[in-house]
Amino acid sequence: MKALVVEDDLGTRLLIKKIVENEGYEVLEAKDGYEGWSIFQKEKDNIYIALLDWTMPKMDGIELCRRIRRTSVTHYIYILFLTSKRSTEAIVEGLETGGDNYMTKPFAREELASRIKVAGRISLLEHKLNEANKKLHVLAITDPLTGLLNRRELFKRLENEIYRASREKNYYSLIIIDIDYFKRVNDTLGHTAGDMVLIEISNRLKAALRPYDIIGRYGGEEFCVGVPGADAESRKKIAERIRTSISGKPFQIGDNKLDITISLGLTSAIPEGRKKDISHILEAMIEKADLALYRAKDTGRNRVVTYE
Ligand code: GH3
Ligand code: MG
Ligand code: MG
Ligand code: MG
Repeated sequence: MKALVVEDDLGTRLLIKKIVENEGYEVLEAKDGYEGWSIFQKEKDNIYIALLDWTMPKMDGIELCRRIRRTSVTHYIYILFLTSKRSTEAIVEGLETGGDNYMTKPFAREELASRIKVAGRISLLEHKLNEANKKLHVLAITDPLTGLLNRRELFKRLENEIYRASREKNYYSLIIIDIDYFKRVNDTLGHTAGDMVLIEISNRLKAALRPYDIIGRYGGEEFCVGVPGADAESRKKIAERIRTSISGKPFQIGDNKLDITISLGLTSAIPEGRKKDISHILEAMIEKADLALYRAKDTGRNRVVTYE
């Protein structure tokens, strides 16, 4: 973690630098606000604390503080004013411009050190909050059993992709997948074995698709795949590849080897419509893919049927 120390007086700057380094930061030094600003722009994603003098040539600390606060950064930057201006008006202005802390010169070393520790606590708190938010986000969009997108996120991404396809006047294809005779797995081996099959199927589906395809858990043992830009021949090939990725190799579930198959309903369109129509377009595509899936079930399962 880096700290930016901006102070025009060399002796004071070196003293501050030493104290800040003692608190575990790598220090970037600037002799005025102008130099501080140019260092800040290059290093902003590594700087966690800025210690600013107020009165300096070229650009003062208040202006630098304003510029730092206007800049978008990945994390919070703690700003501490360290200045000989001690009037109430100055303190108020410093804090209202974006300072988190305000100290007057001359200062006691121990006091500066403990105020830098305050900055460290804020950084740590923010880091923990960011990590927790990331985890929450993953939880909010994924299905806990399979790790695939959950239904809500699946629909959201499909709508985005269909909208993109409509602007690019490109094909978008939807495949709905249902496991064949899945009840038998549950009935003969139990629900846990059924869950293991769902996990293995998800892994195989992921492996059979490309990074820009979308895959989600659509229902209990139903999955939905979105494929951008594929013509009639290649989308059939993709669906066939998905089908054989399941039927081609038995599933090892505990001591049992199971032959699992899936049925697939495929539909495709060059979507046409405005943003507000997209959810209807998606619904219509799902309906068609569903009809094709029913036909796949009716005509013997373990097959791909395309909606014509
Ligand atoms: P079909 O070939 O007609 O699809 O036959 P099927 O037995 O697969 O019938 P269906 O598609 O209706 O299967 C639904 C079954 O899927 C019923 C339910 O017990 C099982 N199922 C749904 N979600 C889960 C789950 O999360 N875990 C387990 N183990 N089973 C599930
Ligand atoms: Mg000064
Ligand atoms: Mg089903
Ligand atoms: Mg089924």
